[in-house]
Amino acid sequence: MNPQIRNPVERMYRPTFYYNFENEPILCGRSYTWLCYEVKIRKDPSKFPWDTGVFRGQSIPCPLLLSQMYFQPEHHAEMCFLSWFCGNQLPAYKCFQITWFVSWTPCLDCVAKVAEFLAAHPNVTLTISAARLYYYWEKDWQRALRRLSQAGARVKIMDYEEFEYCWENFVYNEGEPFMPWYKFDDNYAFPHRFDANYAFLHHTLKEILRHLMDPDTFTFNFNNDPLVFGRHQTYLCYEVERLDNGTWVKMDQHRSFLHNQAKDPLYGFDGRHTELCFLGLIPYWQLDLAQTYRVTWFISWSPCFSWGCAEQVRAFLQENTHMRLRIFAARIYDYDRLYKEALQMLRGAGAQVSIMTYDEFEHCWDTFVDHQGRPFQPWDELEEHSQALSGRLQAILQNQGNRRMGLSL
Ligand SMILES: [Zn+2]
Ligand SMILES: [Zn+2]
Repeated sequence: MNPQIRNPVERMYRPTFYYNFENEPILCGRSYTWLCYEVKIRKDPSKFPWDTGVFRGQSIPCPLLLSQMYFQPEHHAEMCFLSWFCGNQLPAYKCFQITWFVSWTPCLDCVAKVAEFLAAHPNVTLTISAARLYYYWEKDWQRALRRLSQAGARVKIMDYEEFEYCWENFVYNEGEPFMPWYKFDDNYAFPHRFDANYAFLHHTLKEILRHLMDPDTFTFNFNNDPLVFGRHQTYLCYEVERLDNGTWVKMDQHRSFLHNQAKDPLYGFDGRHTELCFLGLIPYWQLDLAQTYRVTWFISWSPCFSWGCAEQVRAFLQENTHMRLRIFAARIYDYDRLYKEALQMLRGAGAQVSIMTYDEFEHCWDTFVDHQGRPFQPWDELEEHSQALSGRLQAILQNQGNRRMGLSL
């Protein structure tokens, strides 16, 4: 797919803005995405945007007609922006802050391109503020929004100030003030309807990005009976905290869960263990190297040795001295002949390794599971298994300590 280089226009006409940016959650007939952008250079003393403009994309279908295929994604406004931006020969040493105000959130193809773009441009931050969420009830499109967020883009819903801002900066407004839709609707005195739409979309997006695990998946995969079988996946719930004046502050935007990526022979993809999927996410977060962070993993199986997870985590911790890692494992991965080495290697690299107790299972249930208000129900012998596994872990790590002192056991 070769996106066409198209030049942006300066502004749009008033009816175009009102029609396309209306924030009613479900709207038909808006078959183009409009994208207003602003590019700023960080630490630029002039404070003026480096560039602003408007792209109009082409034909995406009405979200009510699910069977209809949108076509020619290379003409979508997001793709046009990316090819235009990349065609500018920008200095790599400058940091660019890009903001998009879009009428719809990006489609799956555009999300993939944006993720690629952000990975290739660590000097760029991207905020996407959307008037409406595209297909927000469809699982694939929800996943796309999460992917966008995991790729480091900040995704949000346009609020009143931003609509006003767009009106002033991207619309031939002829000196008129922004008049939100519904203002003259007798049934809905402004700002009732406008705000209700915003609140609905904002809440929906928050729920989508929060991405909760379904309760059965949790109970099946995190059951800590060492004799369970059939758990071929490793699930990893993670949280990140930042050290602030001696206390750890939770970073809600970096809290989610992952599992192994399946093999895909069609694309020559060998699959990836969940620990490595996690390590792959971190560069997207653009964490501040001058700060100290603590990552906590709640993981259904302890990391493996034979496929290189422990080794890669060790290398990661050695390279990233501003990151700490705590690992709480539900079960020890003894299917791997070298699982002890893996645990010892992780401990040796400075990771804190423990077995999940009732408290951690309950915390995971409350934080990562779509529990619909139900409290955590422990399975049989949760406590006994946890204690037995802790004993085994201690013995493994103890053994490591003794070996280090030359007392090979
Ligand atoms: Zn698109
Ligand atoms: Zn592994």
